[in-house]
Amino acid sequence: MLDSILESLHVISLPTKTNFRSVTSREVALFEGPAGWAEFSPFLEYDAKECVPWLVSAVESATQSAPEPVRTSIPVNATLPAVNGSERIAEILSWYPGCSSIKIKIGGNLEADLKRISDVRTLSPNASIRIDVNGSWTIDQARVALQSICQGGPIQYVEQPCSTIEELRELKKLLNGEVLIAGDEILRKAHDPLSVDLRDAVDIVMLKVAPLGGISRSLEIAKKHGLPVVVSSALESAIGLSYGLKLAASLPELPYACGLATGKLLGSDVAELALMGGFIEVTSPTPAPDALINHRVSDEKLSWWRERIRSTWVEGAQDWASAEGWVW
Ligand SMILES: [Mg+2]
Repeated sequence: MLDSILESLHVISLPTKTNFRSVTSREVALFEGPAGWAEFSPFLEYDAKECVPWLVSAVESATQSAPEPVRTSIPVNATLPAVNGSERIAEILSWYPGCSSIKIKIGGNLEADLKRISDVRTLSPNASIRIDVNGSWTIDQARVALQSICQGGPIQYVEQPCSTIEELRELKKLLNGEVLIAGDEILRKAHDPLSVDLRDAVDIVMLKVAPLGGISRSLEIAKKHGLPVVVSSALESAIGLSYGLKLAASLPELPYACGLATGKLLGSDVAELALMGGFIEVTSPTPAPDALINHRVSDEKLSWWRERIRSTWVEGAQDWASAEGWVW
């Protein structure tokens, strides 16, 4: 299977329109298997071990057909990176026509965070606001910040306010249901996302297909925890995002808009996932041949990615794929 992956491999670098996760271009590896196109795009600093589920997810999408969908289009939220200034915020929000939920990245300077949230509320007074802290608050900081934030109006939920399970549990007790907590890194960065005990720690789980090892694994995780789910992305190209859309399409319940419109943060993509009225249709996009050529990385970079795939395969993706019985 490794040879087949490497044979059809394209590695491209897509420009981003904003600085997201300190990334100004997004490198993604794409390959085509018997069941369709697949994306392998762990962030560049991840080691082979952390890359394993990402490769497993890609192999699943290349070799397995997606589960039966229960919906054909997915409600999505606008994603606002940690940018400042009302004009810049208005510009970014205009990229998401019809989206009635807005996820705001915060967790830096509290004053700047409050200003960003207040700018969004002024620009989109009817939108539902959710905030993502990426685990950067202590319990005390979370308590103080949430109090100030909620004075400006309600929020849908706060995503990963603190980093550890103990802190989340303590905070949840303090919040007493007044603000819902969503867990992201607590699951995604866990050694075994199936065995994390999320009881009394979070109200909602974020599922990201690639870091969790694919659709079937994500469905298993959702079932295990039995909490409402929001499917989100890792700033993938349209190929990786389409896989998130398929996961969202197959979940029995989908109570919240999903973070799958992040293609809008890319300056250029390999395919178009049309966003209309706040929804994206579930499709199986094919990369445009021009895009694969125009955005391809240097030969040196390509060799680095081929080696990365090889070491990730050996590190654990191979065993995982063969345990699943996937063949190519
Ligand atoms: Mg998050």
